[in-house]
Amino acid sequence: MNIEKTWELLNDIYFVRMGGTEEELKAARIIQDYLSELGLESRIEDFEVEMDTIEHAELKVTKPYEKTYECTGYKGALNTPEEGLTKKLVYFEQDNAVIGKMAKDAILLCNGYITLRSFPKIAKHQPAGFITYNGNIDTAREDVDLGEREFRSVLNKYGQMPGVNIKIHDAMEMLELGAEEVQIKLKGSLAKGISRNVVCDIPGKSDEVVICTAHYDSSSFSKGAYDNGTGAVCLYGMAQYFAKHQPERTIRLVWCGSEERGLLGSHAYIADHPEELDKIVMNVNIDMIGSTMGKRIAVCTSEMGLVNYIDYDAKIKGFPIEVSQGVYSSDSTPFADKNIPAVSFARITPPGGGEIHSRHDVIEHLSKRYLDEDIRYIVQFTEQMATAYVCPAKKEMPENMRKELDNDRGKSEVK
Ligand SMILES: [Zn+2]
Repeated sequence: MNIEKTWELLNDIYFVRMGGTEEELKAARIIQDYLSELGLESRIEDFEVEMDTIEHAELKVTKPYEKTYECTGYKGALNTPEEGLTKKLVYFEQDNAVIGKMAKDAILLCNGYITLRSFPKIAKHQPAGFITYNGNIDTAREDVDLGEREFRSVLNKYGQMPGVNIKIHDAMEMLELGAEEVQIKLKGSLAKGISRNVVCDIPGKSDEVVICTAHYDSSSFSKGAYDNGTGAVCLYGMAQYFAKHQPERTIRLVWCGSEERGLLGSHAYIADHPEELDKIVMNVNIDMIGSTMGKRIAVCTSEMGLVNYIDYDAKIKGFPIEVSQGVYSSDSTPFADKNIPAVSFARITPPGGGEIHSRHDVIEHLSKRYLDEDIRYIVQFTEQMATAYVCPAKKEMPENMRKELDNDRGKSEVK
């Protein structure tokens, strides 16, 4: 394996590449070029995604002081009347009886993102609209990017309302100054677009398949070096190796698009290839490796046998990694949901050791040495699974994992 070439690919896809955009397509084509240099054929598989746009978003405090705050509108959320929606402001600190009573017909300032898990708890109080915020109070206001957010159509069944997103500094100011009434104006339109997966097969001698996934899209303002340029180039490292070492089982490499928008690429892959699921014996997913600061983890959505196996194997080889059973919110989840044993590898940064989903996810926080070590470990594990006489992991989900997958479905649909 050639880490220099792998590192070069990481640099070549180092630009913001959000799901469904031209930049995502550009990254897909670069990956394909690198594969053809290895003599490997690949294909792009399109899938439809929502590409709503916001024409106008405005947030104004109207009482007891007047001030307009910088905001972005929630794509796909309900539009306000042209003159705006003016309501009392309630800080929805949590879903409880007291705040619930205040929340009716108010515009709620909410903690955290709007997800399939959080939104029902907000919507049941019948508010008129919502405000979310992002950033960190210790980061200078100008260093916080105002995140673009989506109100995915799957939320409509709980209630439709307008929503905007602001910076945490402004949310704090509104609370400190005692904002009582706010006006939201939102005008957006719905549209469809195309996102895509890149698929490359390295044919084995049997018709069984080990499917290896990593998303290559990033979120707004993020060039996604760590999340998940590193996983994307790990698949390329695998391609380098398996192109020269024919596996027993087919290795299918899938660079998933639009993961950041709710695992859309892996969901689309499964929806488009139902006939393949029988043949897939395992999913190896990579989402965030190679950081300078960090600790390695492997999260197995499977029976405990696989957890123990990786744990023992890593100990025997002297590779420090914490192995656990659980559901990792990434492209492994849709495969596990189909009872395919799945493992996600990551090197998780400690607090302060590197951010994701922002402009701070940069290549300078990554280490060529750790990336190389991570890829080598993942390749040898994958080779074991691809050459095993029989694939040892059972193709069934234990009850605790089934339960977690069912609970997590909301989280994965609206990340
Ligand atoms: Zn990721």
